Amino acid sequence: MSEAENHVVIAGAGHAGGSAAALLRQMGWTGAITLIGEEPLPPYQRPPLSKAWLKGEADADSLLLRPAAFYAGAAIDLRCGTRVTGIDRAARRVSLSDGATLPYTHLVLALGARPRRIPLAGSTLAGVLELRSAADADELKAALGPGKRLAVIGGGYIGLEAAASARALGAEATVIERESRVLARVACPMLSHFFEAHHRTRGVEILVDAQVESLVGAHGHVIGVRLADGRQVHADAVLVGVGAVANEELAREAGLPCDNGILVDGTARTEDPAIFAIGDCTRRPLPLYGDRLWRLESVPNALEQAKQAAAAICGKPAPSPEVPWFWSDQYDLRLQIVGIPFDAAEIVLRGDMTLDSFALFHLADDGTVLAVEAVNAAQEFMGGRRIVAKRKRLNPAQIRDMSLTMQQLAA
Ligand SMILES: Cc1cc2nc3c(=O)[nH]c(=O)nc-3n(C[C@H](O)[C@H](O)[C@H](O)COP(=O)(O)OP(=O)(O)OC[C@H]3O[C@@H](n4cnc5c(N)ncnc54)[C@H](O)[C@@H]3O)c2cc1C
Repeated sequence: MSEAENHVVIAGAGHAGGSAAALLRQMGWTGAITLIGEEPLPPYQRPPLSKAWLKGEADADSLLLRPAAFYAGAAIDLRCGTRVTGIDRAARRVSLSDGATLPYTHLVLALGARPRRIPLAGSTLAGVLELRSAADADELKAALGPGKRLAVIGGGYIGLEAAASARALGAEATVIERESRVLARVACPMLSHFFEAHHRTRGVEILVDAQVESLVGAHGHVIGVRLADGRQVHADAVLVGVGAVANEELAREAGLPCDNGILVDGTARTEDPAIFAIGDCTRRPLPLYGDRLWRLESVPNALEQAKQAAAAICGKPAPSPEVPWFWSDQYDLRLQIVGIPFDAAEIVLRGDMTLDSFALFHLADDGTVLAVEAVNAAQEFMGGRRIVAKRKRLNPAQIRDMSLTMQQLAA
């Protein structure tokens, strides 16, 4: 066997890359697997970084996707602290930050995303933080506690979760959002307003329509955020949570088509038959939504695409498309979203928002259920997955009727 025969190289050892390595073995891949990650840790889960980990309710081992010993046991050559620096597609080799090069028969790009940075005066001050890695979360955790003040720029999921965790740690929190509501890019207005109200009752100050002008510092450390209208939010730490940018540069430099993510098909293939891309670094078609291209940033998507790539590499049939879903935990609220909440002609409430247990059904104009946003409503979430997968049509009266169970609605 030549050096490069049957060698899968996975660039990026996060949720998608780590899962792909394990799935390749599960699906019977007997060739070599090299998993290369620039972070010092074996693959770990990011969701707890803004939730249980930040609140000090999870230990380091519980973050890991699999125990560290798993990789050697499964003959996966895990190289942490190493960056893939280039791809030579003609020679089918990657170059690494330690100067080595590696041949591959299949290359899987699982490069993730990085926090979006905004050009703001003061953004290099100490205490200006972002949240993507375990190291970031440790820094944020160290800045929180009774009497501390956290300002969060960006009212997306990560910002709101961090604010909720800050409150749990006794810190004060202010969320500064440029749009007229939090979660503006990802949730419907009813859900945004529900979360705003819930945060306010928990003592979080939410500022909407608020444009940040600069970060204010003293002695090299941030002390506040100045808004365009002259107001100043005092803070001991500022978390900038304004979205993430796909790590697509390696692919772009290798000539692979990218457009807000590495472009892949429904089996995680790029334009090059030897190269796959999975997880947050990709933009992929969504079969349930007319193959519209979308960049999903979620664990279920990372797992789905890891399965697609592993199946294709092992010569197995392509797995059936899954319904996209996402979750967020804030205080005592568990939000679960199934489907993509866009383009709804009508949004119908099932349940009682005042009881903190309800679901919002997004309907197309022909009644097809496009998405369900469920808060503390596990039945609606699970039934919603079946309904969205089947592209089932429902009418608003059926949805509102609590005497009909979700099993009946999904049947
Ligand atoms: C704070 C936080 C909370 C979240 N909460 C949720 C949630 O509640 N629910 C949910 O579904 N999703 C959540 N997500 C999103 C979820 O974690 C991501 O969708 C998931 O991690 C994507 O996996 P990935 O492997 O594509 O990317 P990542 O997990 O980011 O892994 C990519 C890895 O590749 C490495 N890398 C990049 N370039 C190179 C290179 N050139 N060479 C080597 N290595 C490289 C990166 O350092 C990183 O370790 C959250 C994310 C964050 C940050």
